[in-house]
Amino acid sequence: MADLLQVTDRGLYCADGDFYVDPWKRVDRAVITHAHSDHARPGMGSYLCAEDCKRVLHLRIGQKASIETLAYGEAVEWNGVRVSLHPAGHILGSSQVRIERRGEVVVVSGDYKTEPDRTCRAFEPIRCHTFITESTFGLPIYRWPKESVVFGEINRWWEKNQTEGKATFLLGYSLGKSQRVLSGLDPSIGPIVAHSALIPYIEAYRDEGVELPAVIPLESVGPGFDWSKAAVLVPPNLSGANWTNGIGPFATAYMSGWMAVRGTWRSRAVDKGFVMSDHVDWDSLIQAVTDTGAHRVLVTHGFSETVAQFLRELGLDAQELKAGWRSDSDGFSDGDED
Ligand SMILES: [Zn+2]
Ligand SMILES: [Zn+2]
Repeated sequence: MADLLQVTDRGLYCADGDFYVDPWKRVDRAVITHAHSDHARPGMGSYLCAEDCKRVLHLRIGQKASIETLAYGEAVEWNGVRVSLHPAGHILGSSQVRIERRGEVVVVSGDYKTEPDRTCRAFEPIRCHTFITESTFGLPIYRWPKESVVFGEINRWWEKNQTEGKATFLLGYSLGKSQRVLSGLDPSIGPIVAHSALIPYIEAYRDEGVELPAVIPLESVGPGFDWSKAAVLVPPNLSGANWTNGIGPFATAYMSGWMAVRGTWRSRAVDKGFVMSDHVDWDSLIQAVTDTGAHRVLVTHGFSETVAQFLRELGLDAQELKAGWRSDSDGFSDGDED
């Protein structure tokens, strides 16, 4: 493991700078890559994150948390260790953490995606000696179609449901995925309704300057509303919800990288799956790693050993990094990871 960082029972620790990156147990000083729950836990003494992460982080961990921010590219220095945050392209406010001490540079990727989208700052490759990369979709079977293609498919499916008299239910994570899907919906097709759990995040995104189509909060929908014209954004766990009573016929779709594997959506009890991930696919992962110029690569958070082995065959010093981040990759919980 890089000298600058070590895995402890609380998280990835920089002893010289006395801080942790995305710790999973309580620590005094936490540097947070992004606000998804497996990276940002409540109860830390203090938090440091990117400026445009602060709002959504407060929504996740409470309004009283002590959060300091850095602009992307801005640095702080703690005891000779220079720390800066750089766009990771995953969700609003997501960062890679660059850590430098006496010329040695380590970058912790957090979750990242290299294809730009309209809801967050685009990923920036950072040169480093050691790169710690996630590998949520680190298998060659995971290859994403272009976002514009998937948005086209979603909008066409919405129109098709309209002609069949069905409401369109779009299931995706509350933070990140739902806002990204919303950014690609064509409001000229029909009204867009959002579940109340999504509204604070949609507002936070707008407050940070992300342009999103108008939505009707679910509880504001009046009687006589024609649901068959609407697209309805909802969190993943629709089952057991009785608020769908009175809506009439509807069709459901789930948006996730896991949908790339044929048949997954059928087993998930949805009518349709769209392949849309906020993580890098296989090709982009390997490209991103080589773009850093890092000779040493530590792989975590997913298919670590497969990716590490492939990188070793490319001549890199790559190893699996066993860390205590809960890999919440089921895709139907509302944690993260799709
Ligand atoms: Zn995430
Ligand atoms: Zn994650």
